Amino acid sequence: MLVIMDPRATEADIQRVKERIQELGYTAHPIPGASRLAIGVTGNQGIEDRIYLEGLPGVQQVIPVTKPYKLASRETRPENSVVKVGEASFGDGSVAMIAGPCAVESRDQTLRIAERVAELGAHMLRGGAYKPRTSPYAFQGLGEAGLEILAEAREQTGLPVVTEVVDASQAPVVAQYVDMLQIGTRNMQNFELLKEVGRLGMPVLLKRGMSATLDETLMSAEYLMSHGTHAVVICERGVRTFASHARSTLDVSVIPALKRLSHLPIIVDPSHASGNRTSVIPLAMAGVGAGADGLMVDVHDDPEHALVDGPQALLPEDFRELMALLGKVVPALGRTFPVARAKKQEAH
Ligand code: PEP
Ligand code: MN
Repeated sequence: MLVIMDPRATEADIQRVKERIQELGYTAHPIPGASRLAIGVTGNQGIEDRIYLEGLPGVQQVIPVTKPYKLASRETRPENSVVKVGEASFGDGSVAMIAGPCAVESRDQTLRIAERVAELGAHMLRGGAYKPRTSPYAFQGLGEAGLEILAEAREQTGLPVVTEVVDASQAPVVAQYVDMLQIGTRNMQNFELLKEVGRLGMPVLLKRGMSATLDETLMSAEYLMSHGTHAVVICERGVRTFASHARSTLDVSVIPALKRLSHLPIIVDPSHASGNRTSVIPLAMAGVGAGADGLMVDVHDDPEHALVDGPQALLPEDFRELMALLGKVVPALGRTFPVARAKKQEAH
């Protein structure tokens, strides 16, 4: 259930409500909003206990949240959530661009590509240090050495960094190096990982499981949110279908559906959805046309020799073309496409 506070409620009133929720054995989640102050209540089975909250000073209304996900539901928060990661902003009407190599392969490769995508206007850098691979014989990532390289790339370009965390025990270490933690498609329902990452309270990029329904995806977001982070961005990266012409099928229909049910931002990853460079720009346009709050694309300057996912990586000049196209299309959609102000490190 959701407790809607009167706009005139005092701090003491709010505190009292939170305490009463705890006394009932439930958890209180203050939901900051522009139009109202609400306190989400989780842990209750029904809404019978609302009588213990309704009479308290400063309480305007106690309403049921009918969806199984509470904190992620639009019933709980009618206005869009805005997730800010450095200069990048998701959910405020802009189209945020995350770009970089699929994997951190070496210091030189990552710094080179980071420099290029920063120059071309990316708002965030991506790169995997821990790679979940289908084959145990394939390159598994550089691990902590890769995280150090990502931190150096951030220093050098000023771009905030997102990277995947594959194991709950590594999450606190990964969190020290980057600005946003990514949960991959294969781990969307690794609930222990979700709990641990949620507890860190950092922004999270939650990739939809390749066979997950929207409700299941939102329940995974709920795991993160109920454990402590409210800054969750969902990523549609294609789902499994009978189609064999692409690695996955980009489900653009999930974007308006998610926006009806949830206040969380959603971005599209056309690289992993298609597996093919020539499809990336068309699918990126489809995602933005359907209302995505941003895009995440693989960029590599030597895709022939990339250790992971070379065939789907845009070359820097393709990325330039994508950015130029977005510069025209995004304003025409009534959205904004901020020019990234990546700060270069001054030479000392
Ligand atoms: C990735 O973004 O690096 C990745 C592995 O993607 P996914 O989890 O969507 O396959
Ligand atoms: Mn990849």
